[in-house]
Amino acid sequence: MSIILKTGREKSLLRRHPWIFSGAVQRVDDPSAASGATVELLSFNGDFLARAAYSPTSQIRARAWTFEDEPVDAEFFRRKIRAAINTRQRSNVERQSNAIRLIHAESDGLPGLIVDRYGDVLVLQSLTAGAEFWKETFANILVEETGIETIYERSDADVRELEGLPPVVGPLRGTPPNQIIITEHALRYTVNLAEGHKTGFYLDQRANRLKVRELAQGRDVLDCFCYTGGFSVNALAGGAKSVLSVDSSADALNLCRENVALNNLPVTRHSSLEGDVFQLLRKFRDEGRSFDMVILDPPKFAPTSAQVEKAARAYKDINLLAFKLLRAGGMLVTFSCSGGVDAALFQKIVAGAALDAGAQAQIIEHLSQGADHPVALNFPEGAYLKGLVCVKGK
Ligand code: SAH
Repeated sequence: MSIILKTGREKSLLRRHPWIFSGAVQRVDDPSAASGATVELLSFNGDFLARAAYSPTSQIRARAWTFEDEPVDAEFFRRKIRAAINTRQRSNVERQSNAIRLIHAESDGLPGLIVDRYGDVLVLQSLTAGAEFWKETFANILVEETGIETIYERSDADVRELEGLPPVVGPLRGTPPNQIIITEHALRYTVNLAEGHKTGFYLDQRANRLKVRELAQGRDVLDCFCYTGGFSVNALAGGAKSVLSVDSSADALNLCRENVALNNLPVTRHSSLEGDVFQLLRKFRDEGRSFDMVILDPPKFAPTSAQVEKAARAYKDINLLAFKLLRAGGMLVTFSCSGGVDAALFQKIVAGAALDAGAQAQIIEHLSQGADHPVALNFPEGAYLKGLVCVKGK
């Protein structure tokens, strides 16, 4: 079956961007085609552009598997999966941790497929109709190519709804455990594979956790949106004077405390607080409390560009309050993982926050996602995580 595009709408595909939006479609020659089935994308003039996965209910109507006129079958996917695994072997990421992202969806040429390795367990997340269509094939190839026989499925991300897919969670191959302990840069973390965020852990922050470890020495640290304590554990391991971990989730805070203990870190220097960061930062300001390092790693405020304005206000709010709580010489380690907010806009928001807080600050580091979350040059949307380390002057 094929999808014929409107005149001129082939341009993004010619630049090898993998998404075709519904508004670019002139005609679908077999509208009853199965969700996730492979379709040919043709220009208005009938030229071949790509083979793609059909998403009948999504605004992104098709996602390209290949821009070559080649079969899309198990052997095709084996080549793609091998290439993704090879990319990880070429970077030094496997020496840093036994928990790494093996497949990063569009950025590895496999739209909608996330595969993370946690020790000897793989966690697979299928996000699109196309990934769902080939899921069993992916699972077979992954077992063969990695030698890992246990796969947990965490296809419970909200975006599946847009594809008309229900949430699916549970064993896909073998009998995976619900919890596993991973080792990253010589520190250990308990990861809840069954219920943790994303596939269990924020693997994308690996290098930034290490950065916090390097910078935390002797500081009073406030870790906001701490989740299971990735940054808190590193701050303590780096010799922080005190670490206060804040999150709205009691379960996350339990695991955070567990992770501090798991690494034999000084629990007397650690405290945790359940609550809303927006309110707590205000309360701390009103109480005149101050810190030498504030970490802000909030959830995605703007998953797409539609929510940018509201998200910008939320980012500005917490960053402004953080600048107020910082002592002179203090550090703000601030992140955004919103697809709708790019690095330039994020920096502008943080600059506005410093200005309104009456703080003078300099950026000393630009941070981003790790090497196991590569960004394909034809898919700039793959660069979603941005962070800044700012030092407050006065
Ligand atoms: N920094 C973490 C990841 C943060 S994920 C890490 O590196 O592992 C975002 C966290 O923010 C989640 O744990 C969620 O429970 C928490 N959260 C979301 N909204 C919040 C709010 N308004 N106040 C406090 N915590 C919040």
